[in-house]
Amino acid sequence: MNVFVASLATETNTFSPVYTDIHSFRESFYAAPGEHPDTPTLCSAPFIACRELIRAEGWSLVEGTATWAEPGGLVNRQTYEQLRDEILAQLRAAMPVQGVILGLHGAMVADGYLDCEGDLLERVRAIVGPDVTIAAEFDPHSHLTEKRFNNCDLMVAFKEFPHVDFLDRAYDLVRLAVRHMKGEIIPTKAMFDCRMIEVLPTSREPMRSFVDRLQQLEQQPGVLTISVIHGFMAGDVPEMGTRVLVITDNDPARATQLADTLGMELYSFRGTTRPPYLAPVDAVQEVISSPHQPVVLADVWDNPGGGVAGDATLLLRALLDAGVNDAAVGTIWDPMAVRFCLAAGEGAVIKLRFGGKSCDNGGAPVDAWVEIKRTVREAVQDFGESVVPMGDAVWIRLQGTEMDIILNSNRAQAFSPTLFSNMGIDPLSKPILLIKSTNHFYDAFSRISQHIVYCDAGAPYPSNPKTNDYRHLSRPIWPIVEHPHAAASTVISEVST
Ligand SMILES: [Zn+2]
Repeated sequence: MNVFVASLATETNTFSPVYTDIHSFRESFYAAPGEHPDTPTLCSAPFIACRELIRAEGWSLVEGTATWAEPGGLVNRQTYEQLRDEILAQLRAAMPVQGVILGLHGAMVADGYLDCEGDLLERVRAIVGPDVTIAAEFDPHSHLTEKRFNNCDLMVAFKEFPHVDFLDRAYDLVRLAVRHMKGEIIPTKAMFDCRMIEVLPTSREPMRSFVDRLQQLEQQPGVLTISVIHGFMAGDVPEMGTRVLVITDNDPARATQLADTLGMELYSFRGTTRPPYLAPVDAVQEVISSPHQPVVLADVWDNPGGGVAGDATLLLRALLDAGVNDAAVGTIWDPMAVRFCLAAGEGAVIKLRFGGKSCDNGGAPVDAWVEIKRTVREAVQDFGESVVPMGDAVWIRLQGTEMDIILNSNRAQAFSPTLFSNMGIDPLSKPILLIKSTNHFYDAFSRISQHIVYCDAGAPYPSNPKTNDYRHLSRPIWPIVEHPHAAASTVISEVST
């Protein structure tokens, strides 16, 4: 047996001005064939699972390219075609193969391609023919399109958000692919369109129990795998939204029944899954009156992990307007201001314009006299076991205050308090920590803070589906319409073998 593995991934916020090109991939993660490291990245975990499981079978494994770009705006057309064709050429050279295993994200959109992963999978199928196993891993913040559904034998998405299980799910996928190549299973798939879009953290109810139950169902005989595609509301594509995918072993009726039942249950959770988000004025009042120190103020919708720039100034201004004069802010993405500060040097006091440059709704730039407290080349922060680059960074202090702000040059959400301590700021010494992240910050920051306030500043992430200017979304979904299943002519459920 001969198996091919490759990975091509990013998450495209089609509303973001931070366009994605070949440099975005090369800067974030690019491993040429044979050069993938021993540690997995979010979307290349199938490489690690294949190295162990395919080789354990005594089969040969051909590794293609693995690459990932930080979430951002639309992918440049030439960039997508170049990376796609590079992987397809590697596959052709590896033929004949009995299996193709891909690490995808599932929310990539390129200029001219509303469904990049569907396009890639369709071309892979055309090369290998109908009898070769095609298996792909996805991030749940993706779009489950019919083209992907029809061109894959096996699909597995991460179950957890935060995505702590991406490596475990890669092993699930490759184990199933091995069984399929051996002829031990006949995957029968069904997907249910929940006709909604919602934020579905699995660290809290009701999603926590739902995911636990999916894993129990997977232990039942004949049930191979169950995935929830949460959907990604910042991707304006026809099939955007929440879907349930069930794959059974040669039992299409069971797949359909489970997908329908679980899908409608998931639909019933709409509006109940998020932590409470406060408006800026209320959030700032709650922070100011908190008895705890430090209190964390999370700017959930200026999260570069969702493809926005991360240079909004709305909450910094809200703090200043409320008279706050002691807080730490991490981070504001502004490569130009960082460059000015590096040139001015530590200890200099300069008039600086920073933040607020990438879009028209994230707040205006801040103009202030600042003291440059610290400059760090190639700054980093921790995220679990991994180290996240922040690029060149500077710690500035607004003159006449104790407002300490980190400016950085690589877009990065706030993952852990090391983003402050690595720059020389003791996070425990500050009453307020203003950070930009939706959910991934929670684990590390909750260890140093007893009080976390989530703030919905309304921008720049397109967080309100009712007002987002969707041009490609092709069907009624909640919350844009109140009763999407009534409005739909049929409940979409589909089985292929
Ligand atoms: Zn995700």
